[in-house]
Amino acid sequence: MKKVYVVGAGPAGLMAAISAKTHYPNFEVTILERNDVIGKKLRLTGGGRCNVTCNIPIEEFIEYTPKNPKFIYSTLQNFNAKHIMDFFKQAGCPLKQEDHNRMFPKSNKSIDIVNTLMKKLQELKIKVEYGVLVHEVKNDVKTLLTSKGEFKYDYLIIATGGKTYPHTGSDGTGYDLAKQLGHTITPLIPAEVPLVSNDPVIQSKTLQGLSFKDVSLTVGKKRLIHDLIFTHFGISGPVALRASYYVQEL
Ligand SMILES: Cc1cc2nc3c(=O)[nH]c(=O)nc-3n(C[C@H](O)[C@H](O)[C@H](O)COP(=O)(O)OP(=O)(O)OC[C@H]3O[C@@H](n4cnc5c(N)ncnc54)[C@H](O)[C@@H]3O)c2cc1C
Repeated sequence: MKKVYVVGAGPAGLMAAISAKTHYPNFEVTILERNDVIGKKLRLTGGGRCNVTCNIPIEEFIEYTPKNPKFIYSTLQNFNAKHIMDFFKQAGCPLKQEDHNRMFPKSNKSIDIVNTLMKKLQELKIKVEYGVLVHEVKNDVKTLLTSKGEFKYDYLIIATGGKTYPHTGSDGTGYDLAKQLGHTITPLIPAEVPLVSNDPVIQSKTLQGLSFKDVSLTVGKKRLIHDLIFTHFGISGPVALRASYYVQEL
């Protein structure tokens, strides 16, 4: 029996494992995760509610992708927002639509997304090995070196996430694994982050906590419209997060 190993039990690794087993039911699919739970970062998303996807056409997703948007076109042709919504509905976790076409679980709980994915793993008999930190890939002998010994694979999927919120497990070690496989890693930059300001008005904290709907924010030539909140350090909310990519280009 062919062995597929997936490194990382975040949303990417979980969906990749589910997809691999669904398309190749005769393969043995195993997820290696350094934490003792699946989806540690996923639990924190959307303020604990998980903004699962946006009910918008592919063209709009592409419009919102600041860098190399064509890259995701074929991926979204194969699996897009509609597929995600159908997937969770069929798995017994229906979603609901909110402002700006954002989709959340009807229960408003990200843990229900995690539990639905866990149920799917169990149904498909996908194993999860917990507490396994993968630190080296020897692709010539198709072997992973880990904190719990060696694992031999036929196929390997690396889904180790980025490097924000390292306490959730994704601390960037996955980039080394990708390098060992011959990939080039581009310089890493923050994405979807709040903006910090030294402006005296911000520093005085008089605006802290004020939030506004559908604010128009212009960064260079880019104009974005979404909700904004003033914080003790600067601005946050969807429009500030989205603007953060363009701020770095100034
Ligand atoms: C506060 C916050 C709120 C967010 N809200 C949303 C939202 O509402 N909607 C949305 O779409 N996105 C949201 N995001 C972004 C979203 O969480 C990430 O895009 C998503 O988690 C990425 O999934 P992933 O599977 O690629 O990586 P991760 O979720 O980071 O998972 C990677 C997994 O790999 C494991 N791992 C890493 N290295 C190794 C290794 N060497 N060996 C073994 N295991 C390893 C990690 O422990 C982790 O479990 C939010 C992010 C944050 C921080």
